[in-house]
Amino acid sequence: MESIIFDRRMTNSSSNLTPTVMPFPVSDELLGTFVPIAVYWIYSGIYVMLGDLNQYRLHTKAEEDKKNVVSKRTVVKGVLIQQAFQIAVSLLLFTFMSGDSGVVLLQPSLPVIVLQFMVAMVVMDTWQYFMHRFMHINKFLYKHIHSKHHTLVVPYAFGALYNHPLEGLILDTIGGALSFLISGMTPRTAIFFFSFATIKTVDDHCGLWLPGNLLHVFFNNNSAYHDIHHQLYGTKYNFSQPFFITWDKILGTHMPFSLEKRKEGGFEARPIKKIN
Ligand SMILES: [Zn+2]
Ligand SMILES: [Zn+2]
Repeated sequence: MESIIFDRRMTNSSSNLTPTVMPFPVSDELLGTFVPIAVYWIYSGIYVMLGDLNQYRLHTKAEEDKKNVVSKRTVVKGVLIQQAFQIAVSLLLFTFMSGDSGVVLLQPSLPVIVLQFMVAMVVMDTWQYFMHRFMHINKFLYKHIHSKHHTLVVPYAFGALYNHPLEGLILDTIGGALSFLISGMTPRTAIFFFSFATIKTVDDHCGLWLPGNLLHVFFNNNSAYHDIHHQLYGTKYNFSQPFFITWDKILGTHMPFSLEKRKEGGFEARPIKKIN
């Protein structure tokens, strides 16, 4: 794979050189930091606008109000704090990783970008599986960090990143940095990769089983799969996130489920294996 380096100074109007590519006025590193956050609120905002959708919910509204002990206001505040933390750390990481060379890497060919995407998905899944599982096994980490995410027993879209800031740092920011570095993707590809990972995470917490959801066609790790993990009986299963279920399958933490229709409307994801 050959990368061509484009020098930003060549865009100067005083220069006699004609650039072949115009760089964005805003750096890809900045976009890679802020676009996924905008995507988070836009995508989860769409779910809010869709309303209650009782016929597609995985839990009834009454169950949500009863089981979730934190208010929506607290959740929004918690997500904003975690995102502010995430912005600071990812800007720092991007600064260290790319330096201030003022160069933009040209995009490789599409098959290479697809391969980098796949590698990044595997790296992120691997990192998140083991860190997530460790946060459940280690009582201290669970009590002080990961339990915050589990206060949403009935997840909803904009609660996807309701985490302790340290969890955001360990799982998402470091996981993202590793995916970026190991896959060798450019900061421009990273804008799309981080945005896609954000969409996937929001969708896995949407609490709905909507017909025609394309993510459900391509991924077995979905809103019902992750719903099992959010239930009090399910916290020893379905740690895999955000893309595949492979690590759960390999390491015996996979909990298959069936989707049963509720008489009140909607569906219930029911484990079909004995819970230990
Ligand atoms: Zn968990
Ligand atoms: Zn979750």
